[in-house]
Amino acid sequence: MKVIDHLKNSKKTLFSFELLPPLKGHNINGIYKTIDPLLEFNPSFINITYHQEEVVYKKHESGLLEKKSIRKRPGTVAISAAIKYKYSSVDVVPHLICGGFTKADTEYALIDFHFLGINNILALRGDAPKLQRTFTPEKDGNSYASELVKQITNMNKGLYLDEEMENTTPTDFCVGVAGYPEKHIESPNLSSDLIFLKMKVDAGAEFIITQMFFDNEKYFDFVKKCREHGIVVPIIPGLKPITTLHDIRALPQIFNIDIPEELVKELHKCKTNEDAFHVGIEWGIQQSRELIKFGVPVLHYFTIGISENIRQIAKAVF
Ligand code: FAD
Repeated sequence: MKVIDHLKNSKKTLFSFELLPPLKGHNINGIYKTIDPLLEFNPSFINITYHQEEVVYKKHESGLLEKKSIRKRPGTVAISAAIKYKYSSVDVVPHLICGGFTKADTEYALIDFHFLGINNILALRGDAPKLQRTFTPEKDGNSYASELVKQITNMNKGLYLDEEMENTTPTDFCVGVAGYPEKHIESPNLSSDLIFLKMKVDAGAEFIITQMFFDNEKYFDFVKKCREHGIVVPIIPGLKPITTLHDIRALPQIFNIDIPEELVKELHKCKTNEDAFHVGIEWGIQQSRELIKFGVPVLHYFTIGISENIRQIAKAVF
């Protein structure tokens, strides 16, 4: 089922989560171990992230550095298919990015998803690869998520890149996009970001999943501003519980988000990562309860390979 149909058919807040493909060299069982404990909360859909090739430097004994490109977490298409067929009651939402894809590569990936019966996509631009300051699209690739959304919605109309093709089968993808309550890191301000978010929705995106946030007021304000800018699609809050003390510094740096003073104070009282993990669960429960009261369509959790904290939060709120 499409994400948008899940939302239309439900009167209560739904549960969903995001998974990372396993690191290259690991098997798929880790994915199932993350999913299984969360099945009792009836997830409506599971997102699977996409990871672009990155450049690494390998040091040789001679001291010379060898430049290599590797994909640390391959397998998004195969994992999406494996989850869809193993857990028939759950829908999958693979992520598709602009980075590393020509428009032709994108079309082939979409054809694969279409043949596999996967009809949800989260369309993203992707970040600049590590060691690179700015995002550079492929030659003949999409530069922004709005262009990727447009390519997908064109295929939904039967319009493939090869304009001479006739009698094509239209695809039927439900497309979601990312939103940033605390603005995207490259954006000069939130208003400018909202103009481009509206562009993604106007191109055909039917739902938005937000970046993580720890202060619900940021989400409430974002929803209000989106509505004022004419963005009327459902806005699904993305939540990531704090898992270690390291998160206090790492998350703001990586995701351009604030951690509220009250949460920082609680984390400073923690002596171990285990203490921080429990604070993360408590904060996650309070945040989730308030969001349900606000009437959010779905609570969407970023698992980052750990499901015990999400299980405890879901047990307390669903
Ligand atoms: P866009 O919407 O294209 O925006 C990128 C920036 O450009 C913004 O600052 C925007 O304001 C600006 N902009 C947009 N359009 C224009 C325009 N026409 N002209 C000028 N400026 C413009 N990354 C991955 O690599 N893999 C994943 O699986 C993944 N999953 C994610 C899931 C969620 C829920 C979220 C919130 C993010 C995810 N990301 C993922 C990260 C995402 O790829 C990065 O944040 C990326 O830097 C921006 O992606 P976007 O789709 O929001 O880009």
